[in-house]
Amino acid sequence: MSEAPLLLVQDLKKTFVAHRGWPIPKRTEVRALDGVSFEVGRGEVLGVVGESGCGKSTVARVALRLQPSDGGSVTFDGADVHMASRREMRAMRRRMQMIFQDPASSLDGRQRIIDALGEPLRVHGIARGAAVRPAVERLLDEVGLPRTALDRYPHEFSGGQRQRIGIARALSLSPDLIFADEPVSALDVSVQAQILMLLERLRRDRGLAFVFISHDLGVVRHFCDRVVVMYLGRVVESGPTAQVFAEPLHPYTRLLKESSPEPDPTRTITMNFQEGEPPSPVSPPTGCHFHPRCRLATERCRTERPALRDLSPGRTVSCHLA
Ligand code: SF4
Repeated sequence: MSEAPLLLVQDLKKTFVAHRGWPIPKRTEVRALDGVSFEVGRGEVLGVVGESGCGKSTVARVALRLQPSDGGSVTFDGADVHMASRREMRAMRRRMQMIFQDPASSLDGRQRIIDALGEPLRVHGIARGAAVRPAVERLLDEVGLPRTALDRYPHEFSGGQRQRIGIARALSLSPDLIFADEPVSALDVSVQAQILMLLERLRRDRGLAFVFISHDLGVVRHFCDRVVVMYLGRVVESGPTAQVFAEPLHPYTRLLKESSPEPDPTRTITMNFQEGEPPSPVSPPTGCHFHPRCRLATERCRTERPALRDLSPGRTVSCHLA
C-alpha cells in the first residue's frame, strides 16, 4: 500500500472483566483483543474472518470508539481516534459508519423511515426542512427501495429490506469507511447475494472502503481485497484474499479453507471442524492459542507465542512452522 492508509490499527488490546460463579463471584478477565494490527486503504475492502468469540466484532466497536481500548492505537486518516476531542470525534464518526447483522438494532421501531434516515441528515446539518424528504428519497433509490417506503415503519419490511434501510442510514452521511459486521449472515442465501451485489455497487460508485466482518469464508473470498484471519483475539494470518485462499500458511486458515471448498458467494459456509471447538477466551491455551486443535503442534507451540511475521509484502503469518 503506497499512500497512507485510511485506517491504521496498531497493537490494539481490549480486555473485558466479568464476575462469575456462585456463591462468591470471581473476577474473570476475557482478553478479546490481544495486540491486533491491520490497515485499510482508501476504497479497499478488508475482510476480518474467524469463529464466534475471536474478537472480530470487538475490533469494530473499539476502532469506532464505541468502547474504550486498553492499549494500542487506531488512526483514521492520520488522526488518533482514541485521543480525539468530542468535536473531532463527531466529525470522524460521520466518515466512519457501521452496518449491523441485525439492522433493527440501529432502527427505532416507532420511527418511520423518513425520520430514521432524515435524523442523521438533520443532526449533521446536511439537509433541513423541505430538503430532507428528497435527500431521503435519493438514499432509498440508491439502495433499491421504493420511495413509498418513506412513510412506513421498520416492522413492515422483510429482513433484506431492513438491511437496505440500515445501509441507507450508514450512507446518509457520505462516509469513507463502513464497518459491516456480519451484514448478510441473518439473511436467506438469495437475499445475501442481492445485498452483496448492492455493497459491491456502492463500493464502486462511491469509492467506499469496508471492514467486512464475517464468519463466512465464501462471502469474504468473494467480496474482499485482503483478509485478516483472527483466532482468540489475535491475528494469525493476513494477506491478499486470493493469495491467502490459494496458499493458506497458518494451519487455522487451512482448516477454514477445508470447510469452504467452493468459491461460491451464494453458499453459506459453516465452520465445522473435526478438530474441536475453539477454547474459551476466558482461559486461552498457553503459547500458540491454536495448539490444542493443531495437527502440527510441537512442544514449543505449547509454551511460546509465535510472533506475527512479515513473509512478503502484505503477507503475514503467526506460526512457528510457517
Ligand atoms: Fe500449529 Fe504450532 Fe503453528 Fe500454532 S505455532 S499453528 S500450534 S504449528
